[in-house]
Amino acid sequence: MAEWKPRSLLLALCACYALAAPMPAPMGATRREDGSVLVGDILYSSAQWDGLLSKNLDSLEKLWPRENGVVKIPFKISDSKLNGTLLKLGFSAWQSKTCLEFPELTESDTRKEYLNITIQTGCFSGVGYTAGNVTTISIFGDVCGLKGITHEIGHAIGLHHEHSRSDRNDYVIVKMANVEFSSAHNFFTKDTVNFGVPYDYYSIMHYREKGGSASGERVLLAKDARFQDIMGDAP
Ligand SMILES: [Zn+2]
Repeated sequence: MAEWKPRSLLLALCACYALAAPMPAPMGATRREDGSVLVGDILYSSAQWDGLLSKNLDSLEKLWPRENGVVKIPFKISDSKLNGTLLKLGFSAWQSKTCLEFPELTESDTRKEYLNITIQTGCFSGVGYTAGNVTTISIFGDVCGLKGITHEIGHAIGLHHEHSRSDRNDYVIVKMANVEFSSAHNFFTKDTVNFGVPYDYYSIMHYREKGGSASGERVLLAKDARFQDIMGDAP
């Protein structure tokens, strides 16, 4: 699917998913008064920095339908014990910066495709839209936190991990020997649609250097060492 890239559609998709609000500067980087961001000896314009958003889409089929410039992704909380406060903050994080909207599924709405918010053992989500099926997100008590929930919503809208992007080997070295067995799948390279957007070490879809580590050893090494401490550090 990565080969099929009609230009007009890609432009529309990029416009849809682009951040409108500036991202905060992480540790090791300085956001300057004019909005530009200094990382080491590289100065990014505000637009360049804010454009460093992951577009590591699983495939174009996984996109939720878009109508009149808006992508409405309904959700349903399937467990009454679930605290919806963080969930809604997670939705807001995406909604405030994209053309995505997350309305609650109404009783009269009979569509089969929506986000099914559950409490299961762990924080996880299906990836993107699948015709005829719900996309399930699990929020396990307070374990996931706002960052984790926002990350899982990223999967639900169709994104894979940034460090699984098709071009990730140009940017990170993955030390598979240090990866916990059950987490290995999180480090396989995917055939993603990247929209020509630069790799984003700072993506909320990127793990930190020891994410998924079996023994506390580093798993991800940034090929550009200036990003080693920034990697996966999105708020
Ligand atoms: Zn993930």
